[in-house]
Amino acid sequence: MNIPLLGLKKQYEAIKDEIIPATMEVYQSQRFILGPKVEELERKIAAYTKVKYAVGVSSGTDALLISLMSAGIGPGDLVVTSPYTFFSTAGSIARLGAIPVFVDIDNLTYNIDPGKLEKSISGLNPGERSRLRAILPVHLFGQCADMDDIIAIARSLGIPIIEDAAQAIGAEYMSSDGSLKRAGSMGNYGCFSFFPSKNLGSFGDGGMVTTNDEEAFQRLKIMRVHGSQPKYYHKVIGGNFRLDALQAAILLIKFNYLERWTEKRRKNARIYRVLFARKAIRGIELPFEGKGRHIYNQFVIKIDQKRDELKRYLTNQGIGCEIYYPVPLHIQECFRYLGYRPEDCPVSLEAAAKTIALPIYPELREEQIEYIVEKIGSFYKDNISS
Ligand SMILES: *Cc1c(COP(=O)(O)O)cnc(C)c1O
Repeated sequence: MNIPLLGLKKQYEAIKDEIIPATMEVYQSQRFILGPKVEELERKIAAYTKVKYAVGVSSGTDALLISLMSAGIGPGDLVVTSPYTFFSTAGSIARLGAIPVFVDIDNLTYNIDPGKLEKSISGLNPGERSRLRAILPVHLFGQCADMDDIIAIARSLGIPIIEDAAQAIGAEYMSSDGSLKRAGSMGNYGCFSFFPSKNLGSFGDGGMVTTNDEEAFQRLKIMRVHGSQPKYYHKVIGGNFRLDALQAAILLIKFNYLERWTEKRRKNARIYRVLFARKAIRGIELPFEGKGRHIYNQFVIKIDQKRDELKRYLTNQGIGCEIYYPVPLHIQECFRYLGYRPEDCPVSLEAAAKTIALPIYPELREEQIEYIVEKIGSFYKDNISS
């Protein structure tokens, strides 16, 4: 059986009769940059995320970059983030001349650990403390970071939160008062990616920034077009951070399916749980699911032994799988100048060494999940003696 990691071809087959005419409309209009399709998508994403405003941008990376720029982050500023994430989370900070401060993750959720965050901040000297300008939590794999504590810390310091919600559209966090909040609605900025492999993926690059702050919204819109307002008059330096009309047209079709797809992913996760429980393979930890809504951009298991051998074995069996992420950011070569030692973030190191993502896409069929769990079971039966 051949089971890819992602089901994008299947998804396209199912909706192409809607996608093709929607793109034709854009061809006929010959309006490719921003415009009504982008505005419609912005309204829909804002409503879905439960925020007042949304600004379509060129990628998830640019969503992070423009948010940091809008928050006034610049050379020498410190921004706290997670080392266990896709590169662009910290890359965007460093590109502005600011300094990423890596705080290790929680062992269960893989998201930044608020206890360690507090400790790391209290360990800063007064000079560093005064340059601490933002917290950038990541909602990794589709599950929200522990926002209650992060918000309390940011408030006490008077600094903004920029949420990296690139993997978390529609994810919900249950705050201590029992209310459910959507990823991207809890900080000052929420950053989304429409990279094809994300839960809501375009046919190319795209992204969105969400905010409840009217001033930030106006600034983002200006910065998206090189800081130009009115045209050819520049008070601030922005960039070309625009979203294409073509991508917006495709995303508007796909958006109608997002809730259904999300629930299918969650159902697939439940099927995995039942099947893994039945097999009772030792040394496998399934994804932790907290009180909110995990949207499973990835279904990531942690295994005690022979992770890399398992990956090779599954690949040979035709099962797509991937390691997110093999090298935590605090020990990436490009960040050597920051002076971190591997043991500074031990939980991230362990996650990088032991986790593997399995297929979870909505089009996955139950017998395919059975096959995957079956194969993992036989790999460990043959390879681990009890
Ligand atoms: C995908 C992703 C990004 C970057 O999004 P792009 O659209 O690829 O630029 C940033 N952060 C995280 C956590 C991501 O998964």
